[in-house]
Amino acid sequence: MDFELDQDHKMLRDSVRDFVTKEVRPLAIDIDAKHRIPDDLIAKYAEMGFLGSYVPEAYGGAGLDILSYAIVVEELSRACASSGVLVSAHSSLGCDPILHFGTEAQKKRWLPDLASGKKIGAILLTEPEAGSDVANIQSTYRREGDEFVIDGNKVFITNGGFLGTGIVFASRDRALKHKGLSAFIVDLSSKGVTALRNEEKLGIRGSYTTAFALDGLRVPADALLGEEGRGFKIAMETLNGGRIGIAAQALGIADGALERSIAYAKERKQFGKPIADLQAIQFKIAEMATRVETSRLLVYLAATRKEKGLPFATDSAMAKLHAAETAVAVTREAVQIHGGNGYTVEYEVERMYRDAKITEIYEGTSEVQKIVIARALLG
Ligand SMILES: Cc1cc2nc3c(=O)[nH]c(=O)nc-3n(C[C@H](O)[C@H](O)[C@H](O)COP(=O)(O)OP(=O)(O)OC[C@H]3O[C@@H](n4cnc5c(N)ncnc54)[C@H](O)[C@@H]3O)c2cc1C
Repeated sequence: MDFELDQDHKMLRDSVRDFVTKEVRPLAIDIDAKHRIPDDLIAKYAEMGFLGSYVPEAYGGAGLDILSYAIVVEELSRACASSGVLVSAHSSLGCDPILHFGTEAQKKRWLPDLASGKKIGAILLTEPEAGSDVANIQSTYRREGDEFVIDGNKVFITNGGFLGTGIVFASRDRALKHKGLSAFIVDLSSKGVTALRNEEKLGIRGSYTTAFALDGLRVPADALLGEEGRGFKIAMETLNGGRIGIAAQALGIADGALERSIAYAKERKQFGKPIADLQAIQFKIAEMATRVETSRLLVYLAATRKEKGLPFATDSAMAKLHAAETAVAVTREAVQIHGGNGYTVEYEVERMYRDAKITEIYEGTSEVQKIVIARALLG
């Protein structure tokens, strides 16, 4: 058992950190304020290979492993959580289902544009009446000749505003509940797809969170992903992997806040000495660092198990649960360590505090992660 990153992963981490420090960090406040990641920055993510990190080279990706992908999301999120989730949702929720459940023809058709960033990926699962209860999806589809026709409403779709490539879930017959669900690969700029609005949010404000109406959306028969009626399984397996990305995002947010807190504690003087000399601050830093490090171990473990083809659903749920709770707790303490400055935009920890909260909600709330973990243990 080796708890150290190998040379390749260390080099990747260092080069991504260097890029993020120079190119992303200076823009993070602006991204939050303007609710948008600049197109040329996204183009740089594509150039760096972030948008196809674990897509095989045969389909235009960088051909790296899942741990590399987690490191990329972690490093981006240390500076800009909106960028972290752009890459995470695009990779884990947009590319991954095609990679795992797609036919060879579907992989060739869709993955190169996703890996190159020409199209940004999204998953359209959640609906007004179906959040944690995915089986309650109300969107329907029917077969008409060589096409499927999809109708319904989707909400909270990360990356939706790009109108790129979406994995859409709909039901053949709502009475069948989870057994009626199927998944389709959809060009979100198609007729029949209307982006209704991008939500105003507490955090990750640079990330689009879009509501859609699907109204007589016609897709060809070969848009069906996997077998008909297997949509629920595709959704659950996709989310199991997606949680590694969100856990990595949470880890990055927490680590970024810890780094800033250590620097600030050494620099800020009160009562004639740095606040880092106060045991009250030292204990906070020690607890924050311990939470960050345990999160990192869980995230890297889940990523490594997925890469090896071992069961990882419980590991990714534990990683997400722990890292998300860590992100919220650590960013809250980071604001406290920064005092009044921590409450201002300039010092960035207030943004991190706002950004952290969503990691306890999307891709399964913390309560849902506990259900997944408990089921694995208790049956
Ligand atoms: C910013 C953002 C981005 C998102 N991105 C996407 C995306 O890209 N694609 C997509 O499809 N969806 C996305 N979502 C949706 C997200 O995954 C859901 O919001 C989440 O799964 C929770 O569903 P809900 O909001 O309907 O809450 P609900 O399911 O209504 O839950 C409300 C509360 O009840 C609890 N609860 C519900 N059921 C149980 C239970 N059985 N046991 C215990 N507690 C329970 C929950 O934990 C929560 O605390 C996004 C959401 C947000 C806010």
